[in-house]
Amino acid sequence: MKTQMTSRRPAQSLYPLHGRVMHYPWGGYACIPGLLGVRNDEKRPFAELWLGSHPQAPSEVEVEGGRIDLVELLRREGERILGSAVLARFGAGLPFLFKVLDAREMLSIQVHPSRAQSEAGCAAEESAGMPLTDPRRNYKDRNHKPEVHVALSEFWMLHGFRPLEEIADVLAGIPDFTGLSPWFPLHLLEVDEDPAGRAELLRRLYAFIMTMPQDEADRILGGLLAHLEPLYDAGSLHKSSPHYWAVKAARSFPLPEGHIDRGIFSIYLMNLVELQPGQGTFQGAGVPHAYLEGVNVELMANSDNVLRGGLTPKHVDVAELLKTIRFDDGRPEILTGVVAEGGERLYPAPVDDFLLSRIELEPRGVHASGSGHGPDILIALEGEASIRAEGEELALRRGDALLAAANSPWRLHSSSGALLYRATVPLI
Ligand SMILES: [Zn+2]
Repeated sequence: MKTQMTSRRPAQSLYPLHGRVMHYPWGGYACIPGLLGVRNDEKRPFAELWLGSHPQAPSEVEVEGGRIDLVELLRREGERILGSAVLARFGAGLPFLFKVLDAREMLSIQVHPSRAQSEAGCAAEESAGMPLTDPRRNYKDRNHKPEVHVALSEFWMLHGFRPLEEIADVLAGIPDFTGLSPWFPLHLLEVDEDPAGRAELLRRLYAFIMTMPQDEADRILGGLLAHLEPLYDAGSLHKSSPHYWAVKAARSFPLPEGHIDRGIFSIYLMNLVELQPGQGTFQGAGVPHAYLEGVNVELMANSDNVLRGGLTPKHVDVAELLKTIRFDDGRPEILTGVVAEGGERLYPAPVDDFLLSRIELEPRGVHASGSGHGPDILIALEGEASIRAEGEELALRRGDALLAAANSPWRLHSSSGALLYRATVPLI
């Protein structure tokens, strides 16, 4: 028999939360250990800190009498902590996964499917008898995986396809690429501003690159890299040039038997984006993207569905990739946040699973959240603050995180100033 709460004391609404570190090989050595106050003398890669109830690595929360798995807490008290609207909409887990991510090496080029694609794909793979552990499995669950992220350092990434006119210039301007698709500039003149025609032309170019014989990809990319490597080694290539990332990718992702990863072509086709701290982007279904270098906070729907388009030793399913990618060209929208009350900046995303915001408290600053909010996870990244809810107060130092139950008013205060990020579920 568990101990019952006394009737006079209100139920706990603030839970100190302990995330789980993912040691993927591309992770940095210092940032996440520094945030968590742990030593890393042996230089293990600390790639991601996961805050949430994802079954692969659920966080732990402090409750009276010890620590428990967040999944277990939500199973027991889901209705109170998630709120009835969120529980009804998403079931008994947090609908989002919140991360701090530190990319020392580049990540694969990837795209995430829509909910409808995930449902169909997951059903097809299940009926084909593929177990979840099969490395060829594209769809791990039936959910979509939109993502919003905000840089915490200078941050480099690839996001979406560049305007086709720029792609035409790249193909014409790099001698190794001139034989690649002589038809491209001509067709571009024909399609002009027609969106469907432009998408079809881009699809054709991308499909051509992704299905060309490996020997052909090796020959073209080998020629290009032979010119670029001496420049890279001499330090003459800058991060603002796709050439820099092409050499880095070739060295990070060598294929067996000396083959070259054709994902390198995509570095030239996609927008190379530099973000400053506080700037971010949204990756909706079908938008190709890759994190190249830097530290960010990332908030996504609770899903594991990724299709890879190169720069990876993992499985690349070209047919499924071509069905999933949106062949839109243009420039990405850089999110700088929308100013709200109490030092909060919102990074709204066109999905109902999550809302990311940044709370910057000046010295003696206050941020108050009323009773109408979803479940929140807060993480303190700089400075110190304290948070108070009915009958409870917790100190938040750098690296501390907490879960606040839905609809319970809370108030943040800092005497010396603090920076926090907040993940929540928008109430609709
Ligand atoms: Zn992604």
